[in-house]
Amino acid sequence: MTVTITASVGASGRNLRPDVTIVQRLLADRGVSPGRIDGQCGPHTVNAILRFQAQFLAHPDGRVDPQGATLRRLTAPHTGGTAHAPQTPHNPTARPGIRPPAAPATHAPQPPAAHAPLDAALTALVPRPSRDTINQGLTAVSPAFMVQELGNPRESYNADCQPMTNATLRRFVVSDSVGPFRVTGLRPAVESLRAAFTQISQDQPAVYAALGTAGMLCCRLVRGSATAISNHSWGTAIDLKLNGVLDRRGDSQVQTGLTLIASIMNTHGWYWGAAFRTEDAMHFEASRALISRWAPLVR
Ligand SMILES: [Zn+2]
Repeated sequence: MTVTITASVGASGRNLRPDVTIVQRLLADRGVSPGRIDGQCGPHTVNAILRFQAQFLAHPDGRVDPQGATLRRLTAPHTGGTAHAPQTPHNPTARPGIRPPAAPATHAPQPPAAHAPLDAALTALVPRPSRDTINQGLTAVSPAFMVQELGNPRESYNADCQPMTNATLRRFVVSDSVGPFRVTGLRPAVESLRAAFTQISQDQPAVYAALGTAGMLCCRLVRGSATAISNHSWGTAIDLKLNGVLDRRGDSQVQTGLTLIASIMNTHGWYWGAAFRTEDAMHFEASRALISRWAPLVR
């Protein structure tokens, strides 16, 4: 049987829907479940590709290319002997003591280092989830709302990080650990992050172990804007890294690891920047509900 795909599927692939469906079927057929077969390339599909590749590649990349080795493996005739295929041949003529010849072990998989596929999986890029599946029930805040609720952190802004000059607000700025790292931010925001990261450490320990930050408090304008004040100016937004890698803003792709913790952050009231018009997946910020709750505490 000849099975072909038009373009790459998986991490950084084009992920055309018919191609994704084909790859998902092939993976399922090999006992490496990609989750629901729906033509959407999400973290489950990329993880399944990585797990399949780990059977024969030292450095899985989470992508299936039209002419690549992974597709050849996926479409090769089944030889049995894979870790997931139960070996229960129904052979009524087999007699005790006489075994069929074992499959040659010439292409026995070389298991890669224990964490290699997982590390690659966390920073592998997938299309950003559709907006109706993230930030449910949360509202992003405008700079005007922030100024109204918390006051203006400083008189003027530019593209660089500048100190907070609002003396009232500054009394509530703390530097403290939130679990995987230390941050400087508004006290209730830091406390909320600590609670969210505690849950991440329990529910997504691999992502937790990979978490880093590119900063929280930073009084500046939104990147690319001449007027909009960034929520980092109040210390109520945080930029996250995975294994030291920042998600690139504006490419509508997001790191798989971020998709695994987004719902936990949402539960704690943190709005995910993946839904911004210019996708900013590294960025989480306190939602309108949190700001409203905190405003009376910081006056
Ligand atoms: Zn940010």
